[in-house]
Amino acid sequence: MLTDLTHVIASDRPRFAYNVTSVEGFLALVDWGETHGKAMVLQCSERYLKDLGEDFFRQLVVPRLDTSPVPFVLHLDHAGSLEAVLKGLQIGFSSVMFDGSTKPLEENIALSREAAKLARMAGVSFEAEVGHVGGAEDGDEDETAMFTRVGDAKAFTAAVPMDFLAVSVGNAHGRYRKPPKIQLNRIADLAAAVPVPLVLHGGTGIPPADLVEATRRGMVKINLGTELKLAWIAGIQSSLAAGEMEPDRIRASARQSITHVIQTMEALLTR
Ligand SMILES: [Zn+2]
Repeated sequence: MLTDLTHVIASDRPRFAYNVTSVEGFLALVDWGETHGKAMVLQCSERYLKDLGEDFFRQLVVPRLDTSPVPFVLHLDHAGSLEAVLKGLQIGFSSVMFDGSTKPLEENIALSREAAKLARMAGVSFEAEVGHVGGAEDGDEDETAMFTRVGDAKAFTAAVPMDFLAVSVGNAHGRYRKPPKIQLNRIADLAAAVPVPLVLHGGTGIPPADLVEATRRGMVKINLGTELKLAWIAGIQSSLAAGEMEPDRIRASARQSITHVIQTMEALLTR
C-alpha cells in the first residue's frame, strides 16, 4: 500500500530513501521490499519524473505500490516550485519535498509554507530544506555548501509546518571528489534545537560508520541516489564487457547490481 513518510520513518527507525532513476531500479526496490516484507521509501526528482514520464508514475508506479501488501512511500524529491508540488500530488505521490534552499531564508519560508499547505490538503507528509546542500544538482562540480545554522533551522521549523527537515552538514549531492566530512556535532545540535526529524541528502560516498553515527545523532532519512545510478551503470558495463547482447540479460545485470546495493545499505541500518 502507499503510505507517507511518517508511517515508515521514526527517530528509532531511520531509513534510506532510494531515488528511482531507472525502471531496473524501480523493479529492484519493489522486489526487495516485497521479498523481505519491509517498508521501502522510493523517491523521484523532477528530472527523472520527466525522464521516466508522468504516465509511468501515474499508471504504473502508483497503482503497483498501492496494491502491494507491503507499505511503500513514493516521495517527490526536490520539487523546485509550487507547480511541481501540485503536479506530484496529482500524480499520486504520497509525500513531497519542497526545496527553496537556494533562496533567501524569508523567501524560502514563504514558499515552503505554501507548499506545506498543498501537502496538508492532500494529506501527505512534507519535507523542506534550510541551509543548502550543494553538488551535482546545481550543475557545477563545486561542493561548496551553505551549512545549516541552528538559528535558521529554529526559525524555519517554527514558521513552516513540516514533518521532516533537510539540512546541510557537510553532505553533497553526486560524487564526492574528496571524502566528505560530516559534521556530526552540527547534526546533534540541530536535532536538539528543532522539533522535526532530520534528513541527510547525498548519502552516496559517506563512510558507513558516519552514516550510522548520523542516525544516532538525529538523522532519520538518508537519501541515496548516485549509488544506485553507479550500480546501474556498473551492471550494464559488466554485462556488455562479458559480450552480452540480449537486452533482458543486460537489464537483469543492472537490476542485480542495484539489488546488491540495497542489500548492503539495508544491512547497515538493521538494529
Ligand atoms: Zn537531495
